[in-house]
Amino acid sequence: MQLSKRVETLTPSSTLAITAKAKELKKEGHDVIGLGAGEPDFNTPNYILEAAAEAMKSGMTKYTPSGGIIELKEAIINKFQDDNQLRYSTDEVIITTGAKHALYTLFQVLLNDGDEVIVPTPYWVSYPEQIKLAGGNPIFLQSSEENEFKITPEDLKKAITPKTKAIVLNSPSNPTGMMYSKGELEELGKVCLEHNILIVSDEIYEKLIYTADQHVSIAALSPELKEQTVVINGVSKSHSMTGWRIGYAAGPQTIIKAMTNLASHSTSNPTSIAQYAALAAYESNDASLSKMKEAFSERLNAFYDLITDIPGITCKKPKGAFYIFPNVSEAVAMNGFSSADDWVKAILEEEKVALVPGSGFGSPENVRLSYALGLDDLVEAAKRIKRFVENHQ
Ligand code: PLP
Repeated sequence: MQLSKRVETLTPSSTLAITAKAKELKKEGHDVIGLGAGEPDFNTPNYILEAAAEAMKSGMTKYTPSGGIIELKEAIINKFQDDNQLRYSTDEVIITTGAKHALYTLFQVLLNDGDEVIVPTPYWVSYPEQIKLAGGNPIFLQSSEENEFKITPEDLKKAITPKTKAIVLNSPSNPTGMMYSKGELEELGKVCLEHNILIVSDEIYEKLIYTADQHVSIAALSPELKEQTVVINGVSKSHSMTGWRIGYAAGPQTIIKAMTNLASHSTSNPTSIAQYAALAAYESNDASLSKMKEAFSERLNAFYDLITDIPGITCKKPKGAFYIFPNVSEAVAMNGFSSADDWVKAILEEEKVALVPGSGFGSPENVRLSYALGLDDLVEAAKRIKRFVENHQ
């Protein structure tokens, strides 16, 4: 059967591929340490599980409105108000099947064939694929490692053409863990307003920041920017709820309405039970979340020191999310490999440590290491990578 042209160039998610390979090796009995995880390794807090059970028992197992239940929309509106000083009404918010599907739906309602969306590199793997599936062209805008992988207003101006429709900003970033300051967002926002470019602001890691830096939503900087931005967020990373699939988008009413119409013909609605679970997540002030953050912070400090101690590996210290994204080009060359992809494969085969090659994020000199696993495993993984690098010199 001939498949559609649309999926011809679709590549499987490189992060999921490496996690699957690591799982396979583990199943075969190998002592594999997977640094590919894109999700917190903590259980969803108990009170959320209980809220879901209660929702099921009380019959909340039917279709909901396509844009999500009103109670959860209101809780999300309160969250925006409290955390981001943003005021939305219920018709400016849609609840989706994970933040991933919020982005997918957004690009579908936004893009015509040939429209350009600026994607700063390194990028989260799904942005380019989703843009292409909607008929758009991802325009990769290389950021520099010296500038903490952040684009500048000058970079942005150069990438803009008459076809530019939107830009994706992701702060804190997957894969780099870097974040934009308020001043930097103001500068970028100014350029977007001047050129009438919609900002897709993916803020899914906003709750996982380990420095004194404050997360700022670009939509909160002015009423004009709010009108020109769709904020994407969700409970996957903040509440360790990746499997529940609850995300959301907030933005101009016309966009949200179109997304809701599209959702009514695609998912119908996000799972009713998961919506009630997310409601409990937002209605509680949960201490276990700060414990999770503390654990991530401790791991980052320890793991970062161990990884940057390895010859040929350099890295600016990330501020948020749960990844580090070191440049390994020197180690790769020193070890006699022609690419980081091959180097990563060899490390998995020889030392049974799964890293994600940066090529999937548009950054072939880097690798992404997740620290969403126990400290003992992180220490062991760093030891093995170091041994590999030293043994192949
Ligand atoms: N955006 C970024 C930057 C992510 O890293 C992820 C998940 O890995 C998502 C969005 C999607 O999250 P969700 O689980 O809510 O679909």
